[in-house]
Formats: sequence, C-alpha cells, structure tokens
Amino acid sequence: MSRIAFIGLGNMGGPMAANLAKAGHAVRVFDLVPAAVQAAVDAGATAATSALDTLTDAEVVISMLPASRHVEGVYLGEDGVLADIPGGALVIDCSTIAPATARKVSEAAAARGLQMLDAPVSGGTAGAAAGTLTFIVGGEADALERARPLLQAMGKNIFHVGASGAGQVAKLCNNMALGVIMAVTGESIALGVAHGLDPKVLSQMMAVSTGRSWATEVCNPWPGVLENAPASRGYSGGFGSDLMLKDMGLAVEAAMSVGASIPLGELARNLYSMNHQAGRGKLDFSSVVQLIANEK
Ligand code: NAD
Repeated sequence: MSRIAFIGLGNMGGPMAANLAKAGHAVRVFDLVPAAVQAAVDAGATAATSALDTLTDAEVVISMLPASRHVEGVYLGEDGVLADIPGGALVIDCSTIAPATARKVSEAAAARGLQMLDAPVSGGTAGAAAGTLTFIVGGEADALERARPLLQAMGKNIFHVGASGAGQVAKLCNNMALGVIMAVTGESIALGVAHGLDPKVLSQMMAVSTGRSWATEVCNPWPGVLENAPASRGYSGGFGSDLMLKDMGLAVEAAMSVGASIPLGELARNLYSMNHQAGRGKLDFSSVVQLIANEK
C-alpha cells in the first residue's frame, strides 16, 4: 500500500485515481472542480483542499492535468508544490505535455533530490476506467521500477522509451498518427456515403481490410456506425478535439526543434484548428469528420 497524492481528476485522472484506491492505496486527491473531487471520494479516495494539501505524508505524487502550462504551474508556479513534496517521494506526471516542459520540471525535481517520470498514457477514457491504459514512460529505469506496481493498477502495458521527456515524444508520435488517421477515416467514409454506400457496411469492410484502424474499429467517426463510439452520442465524452489540437501543436513544435518534416501532421493540425473554430473544440476529436461531411 502506498500513500499517493493525486492532482487532476478529469476524464482520465478521475478513473485512474479510483483504480488506485480500488487497489488498496491511500489516495489523497485534488482538482479545481469540487464535483470531480467528490466523485473520487465516492470511489474511495480522500479529499484534499488544495494541491499542497494532497502532499501530507505522500510517498508518490501523480498528476493528470490538461497541458504544459498547468503542469508547470502546479509544480513550479507561484503556489507550486514541488518545494513541498516530501523528501524521497516519487513524482509521476501522466499528462500529455511538451517534452521540454517535462524535462524542465523533472530537472527541478532532481535539483531537490526527487525522481520524476513522464508517463503519458494511451487508451482513452474507456482504458482509464477499465485499468487497461498503456503507459509511455521517460525517465530513469529504477524510478520506473518504483512506479511499476502503481502503473499496473491503472494500466496493462508499460513501455520505457528513454530518458526524461522521451515518454512525451513517443506519445506525440502516437497521437500525430491517430489525429491523421481519424481525419482520413472520416474523409473515406464521407466519400463512400456521397456515392450512396451504407456507412456501417463500409466501416465493417474497412475494419477487416487494409484500411483498418482504431478509428474504424473502436471510435468510428460516423454517427450510428458503432453504438458505443462518441459519434453515436453527439460526440460527447471521449478525447476532446481541443486536446488533440494541443497534441498536434506539440508534434509540430517537436518536429521543428529537430528539423523533421511532418507534412500530414501539419495538415491535420490545421483541421483540428478549424474544428475548434467551428465550435466543436469540447466535443470528441472524431467530430473533425463534420468539417468534411457537414453536420452528419
Ligand atoms: P480533463 O480536462 O478532463 O481533466 C483535467 C483536469 O485537471 C480537470 O478536471 C481540471 O479541473 C484539472 N485541473 C486543471 N488545472 C488544475 C490545477 N491547477 N489543480 C488541480 N486540478 C487542475 O482532461 P483529460 O481528458 O483527463 O486529460 C488529461 C491529460 O491526459 C491531457 O494532457 C490529455 O491530453 C491526456 N490524455 C487524455 C486522453 C482522453 O481520452 N481524454 C487520453 C490520453 C491522454
């Protein structure tokens, strides 16, 4: 049993904290949204009144926040908690953020003698709830071994991809592919529908053919094709289009920092930007199909 401070209880952090509590850990939680804290308490966690207040006796600090600025703010900002984390505690940030920010916070942690991992996840809200996430870890191998039992309580696959920041780079590579694949899958289905094809039959065919992907099989962007996909419930829940826009922007920055060419990634970043401008930023990212298919 570990004493865990957990900061950020949104679509992902909420169920992740709940799985840690379910596994028997003592989890002290905080989020800016009181309802999110209450949901975690209902799942067996203990409420803290601030990020600082989660740290009481903490052996491990886990954060699951929206973007780089939130992570930098929570750890290094004016009321940043890094200075107050108990000595010897392990810090694990599971948010998807810029590799440079992950390295900056981890270096500040190291200056205090604390080990820190970047451990962004893949698997979506369903994976967070089911405890089947994939963790993509950057940092020292011995820090990962300390974290492993906790990551196993929240996930199924754990990849150590390199030093601090490498987890974020690998996560951005995955999400850039996902963002492009989702957009082109929507485009393909829209083409078929414009020719009078049934989107369900077309998707079923693609899901067992060479055009198959997570977008055809699990999160199909066309309404009514898959009952449990966000598209079939007005694109609610799931992975926010604005979060995908953030990740595509991070991929573009990462490419520019090493002079890499990502023509499809840059194109897709613009599509998610247009989806934001069309007012769909808070909807699931598969709503990007509506740019092409007009209010399906
Ligand atoms: P979310 O917006 O649902 O949750 C973020 C939570 O952080 C919110 O509840 C917010 O109130 C809280 N928060 C923000 N600032 C805070 C602060 N200073 N102190 C305490 N709490 C604060 O986002 P999410 O969908 O849970 O995603 C979290 C991270 O995981 C993002 O980086 C995202 O890119 C990544 N991610 C999301 C998914 C997904 O399917 N939703 C999948 C993989 C990775």
